[in-house]
Amino acid sequence: MGRILIRVNEEQVSEPIASQVIIEYKVPMVILSAHINSKGGEILVEIPDDTEDKIVEALRKRGVTVSVPKSIEVDSEKCFSCGSCVALCPVEAISLTSDSSVQFDKEKCLGSTCSICVDACPARAIKAVKPNGNGSQNNREKKS
Ligand code: SF4
Ligand code: SF4
Repeated sequence: MGRILIRVNEEQVSEPIASQVIIEYKVPMVILSAHINSKGGEILVEIPDDTEDKIVEALRKRGVTVSVPKSIEVDSEKCFSCGSCVALCPVEAISLTSDSSVQFDKEKCLGSTCSICVDACPARAIKAVKPNGNGSQNNREKKS
């Protein structure tokens, strides 16, 4: 499954754009997080990998900004097991093992759309990286 971040503006927020795409393409979408108000917002969704290109294109045609969130990585060399990230993660994607090392669950993590742990880590041991690489801007990012 792949993850994409859908951003809607003030004009688009009242339109059922994601629902229209789901129905038109018969693609299951799992909503992982949504932060929306009357001014617009962001929805992080999970879709099958082989549908990503056509779903991104369909959303883009409707004027929506779509990007692929970066993944989160923990540098165990820098981590000193303070537990701040564990306490703050909203989806329990980080835990401390019995030997106090950080255990990170990529399947649960919301990626760079969240980044709470990145900002909270006093050791700067957590960073956002593109899914296959080194922290630079993801080249699959697509905007309307
Ligand atoms: S980015 Fe957010 S969801 Fe992912 S591990 Fe950090 S706090 Fe948890
Ligand atoms: S906040 Fe940073 S130093 Fe503290 S446990 Fe998490 S990764 Fe390690």
